[in-house]
Formats: sequence, C-alpha cells, structure tokens
Amino acid sequence: MVKAEYLGWGIHVLDTAYQREHMAACYVMEQDGEVAIIETGTKDTVPLIFAFLEQHNLPSSAIKYVMPTHVHLDHAGGAGLLMQALPHAQLVVHPQGARHMIDPSKLQAGATAVYGEAMFQSVYGDLLPIDPAQVMSVEDGQTLKLGSRTLTFLDTPGHARHHYCVFDDVSEGFFTGDTFGLAYQELTTHNGPFIFPTTTPVQFDPEALKASIKRLLSYEPKRMFLTHYSMVENPQELGKRLLYLVDEFVRIALEVQEQVPVDQWLNELNGRLLRYLMNDLSQHETTLSSAEYAQVIASDVLLNAQGIEVWLHKNQAA
Ligand SMILES: [Zn+2]
Repeated sequence: MVKAEYLGWGIHVLDTAYQREHMAACYVMEQDGEVAIIETGTKDTVPLIFAFLEQHNLPSSAIKYVMPTHVHLDHAGGAGLLMQALPHAQLVVHPQGARHMIDPSKLQAGATAVYGEAMFQSVYGDLLPIDPAQVMSVEDGQTLKLGSRTLTFLDTPGHARHHYCVFDDVSEGFFTGDTFGLAYQELTTHNGPFIFPTTTPVQFDPEALKASIKRLLSYEPKRMFLTHYSMVENPQELGKRLLYLVDEFVRIALEVQEQVPVDQWLNELNGRLLRYLMNDLSQHETTLSSAEYAQVIASDVLLNAQGIEVWLHKNQAA
C-alpha cells in the first residue's frame, strides 16, 4: 500500500518506508505529462514509486528527472535500482555527489562500516552503479524545465558538501533535503512545526549551514518541502529558529569540548542535545508523553551528536 498525500501544485509526498512512518519523504512532481522524483529513498522505496505511478496512470517513461538532494542513503540509496528501471531518465545530482552515484562502492563501504554488514544489507542492500550517461551534474544557479515549470538548483553546503536545494517556481517552495532541518509531523502542535537542524557526519559545517539557510530565505519562499518530513509553511520564522539552534548546538559543542575528556564527547553531546531539545519540546506543548517524543527525535539526536563530534575534532585540528 502506497502512502501518498497530495500537497497541491502537482506535488505528492510519498512515505519512503524508511525506519518508521513519516520519517523520510520522496516527492513526485508532475507537470504537463512530465514527472520528477525528488529523493529516491532506499531500495524499498522503488516499488512504492512504481505502484504510485500506476495508481495515477503515469507511465514510468514520463519520469524525466530523478533528483536526490544529496547522496546520503535515506535520500539516494535507491537511486541505482530506480535508474536501472528508467533508461530514459536523467539522475540530477550535485557535482560532488556524481561520482558516488556512478561508482557507489565508497558510499557502501562507508555505510557498512557504520551499520555493519547485516544491517546495511537489510536496510539498503547492494548499491547499484548508474551509467555515467544518465548522470547530470548541476551547478549552482542552473535551471531545468519540467514541462512549463522551472526548477532552480542551489549549492547548499553545511549539512553535506554534496547537497543542493531546488526552488520550484510553481509552488514557490524549496525542496530542502536536510539543509532546512527536520520537522517531524508527530511534533507539530498549535505552536507550529517543531524544527531543528540536522548535523549528520561527516561534513557538518555550522557557518556553511547558516549561510545556506539564509540564502534559501533570501528567495522569500512561501513553503519548504522537507525530506524529514513533508511541507512546512512560514519559512522565515522557521529559518530564524534554525539559525538560532545551529548557534546553540555550537555553543553546547564548545562547552563539551572544554568540560569533558575527549573520549566522553559523544556521550555528553548526545545527552546534552537530547535534554536541550526535550526541554524545548515541553514548551512546544505536544500532546505526546516525553518518552514518546524522545523516541521521535532520539536517532536524529544521536546522529547530530556524532556529526558535531566530527566537527569538533576538525575544529580542534584547524
Ligand atoms: Zn536525511
């Protein structure tokens, strides 16, 4: 069963079936008979994409572009499998991500080192290489047409150096990947979405991330399409909050660096970030219990702690 929701402007959001419901999104955009897929999810998402197309009477030959915002595997893990079934589609990727899509062996080795072989195989499976003729790198500011609509690609480092965001002139929104943080729907209340930055290893760069967020906001978008999870309104207000939180995370990181021995950084960062966000969440007036909202954010907080630890080591070395 495909879990999809229509958002307007020819855009559907699909649940990629990654880890839990409403964890990671894939977007299907349709215009004048042409389709773009934004984020591929993993191997388990690919059959869902085809089932969705069938339900909506769209032939797979309508897919013109497949656009992972960056090559982290919750965004691009299924790209090889998907492209194999779409010989006429182009994979549109950041110049720094292209070689990893053509030869995913490094991506696979890196992720296997993190997750272990058994876990990697069950969640992601072997990553498939993509024919270089099907891979299109997009430079900062480049535009592509999907039917009559114009998609503009911006280089947005900070979460990862191989990350772009896409501005869509029809919805007047950005597809933000992980650059504009995370806002899980379970945490949305009458106070709005609960948004926070994602600082995943190994390329988190706070200054670059803040510059990218400001750049997105400078387009005065009406909405943002987050991969984790779905559309949010009021980008200016949420962006301010994200910029503030990036600074707060850095402040917490530098305190940890000063106060505890290096072998305790990760544990301490994880604890302090979790307490910080839990405290914020209690003021956000969610109806979930604190155990429930801890569960929603725990895996991202740990990833954030790991990414910030890597950044601290680089910062110390510099
Ligand atoms: Zn992600």
